[in-house]
Amino acid sequence: LAFDEVQFPSAIRNVIQQLGYVRPTAIQGQAWPILLTGSDLVGIAQTGSGKTLSFMLPALIHAAGQTNSRSGDPLVLILAPTRELAQQIQVVGADFCAATNSRSVCIYGGAPKPPQKREIRYGVEVCIATPGRLLDFVREKTINLDRVTFLVLDEADRMLDMGFEPQIRKIIKCIRPDRQTAMFSATWPKEVQKLASDFMTNCAHITL
Ligand code: AMP
Repeated sequence: LAFDEVQFPSAIRNVIQQLGYVRPTAIQGQAWPILLTGSDLVGIAQTGSGKTLSFMLPALIHAAGQTNSRSGDPLVLILAPTRELAQQIQVVGADFCAATNSRSVCIYGGAPKPPQKREIRYGVEVCIATPGRLLDFVREKTINLDRVTFLVLDEADRMLDMGFEPQIRKIIKCIRPDRQTAMFSATWPKEVQKLASDFMTNCAHITL
């Protein structure tokens, strides 16, 4: 697959060009056609494979299609196991968020809440979060997930290894059932399969 074969808006095509990307990575080539048609996806892939943009670009296109009136509540939610990974997702997506006028916030535990709350209050389209702190914010009504229609579970196996399954399940129950869902995992154990079958419908599978 070549970049030209994907129907990206010009704002995104321009950033790809500016960054000097020559061709999509294998996972991007497989994930984009699936996610851009609105299907759910399970991707078995490692970090370094280009997986962040494989979900981020379809997520931003999805968000752009939703925002006639911007409420400031997130449209895209990306769950990640650690602060480091959440921040890395934000950094890899930053130029593309800027180009599509999407504001992103990174929410994680082990850091003071007020700065994160302030960012949420200013309004965001994309929320990248670790499950524990996000659930705190949902319970405190700091964040409203009612408008989330694109959900990503990144490194699902690691999130389950870290004991986040109860939080993940509670968070997903707050999100509209007619959302689009993408799950990425480096491995495909029973626990991850169960999570996928509980929360995803008719999903495509890709393995790198
Ligand atoms: P990831 O696997 O998502 O952590 O991405 C690893 C790195 O590859 C990030 O720094 C991206 O900016 C970069 N990257 C993503 N897609 C491409 C591509 N198609 N061509 C070159 N670099 C890319």
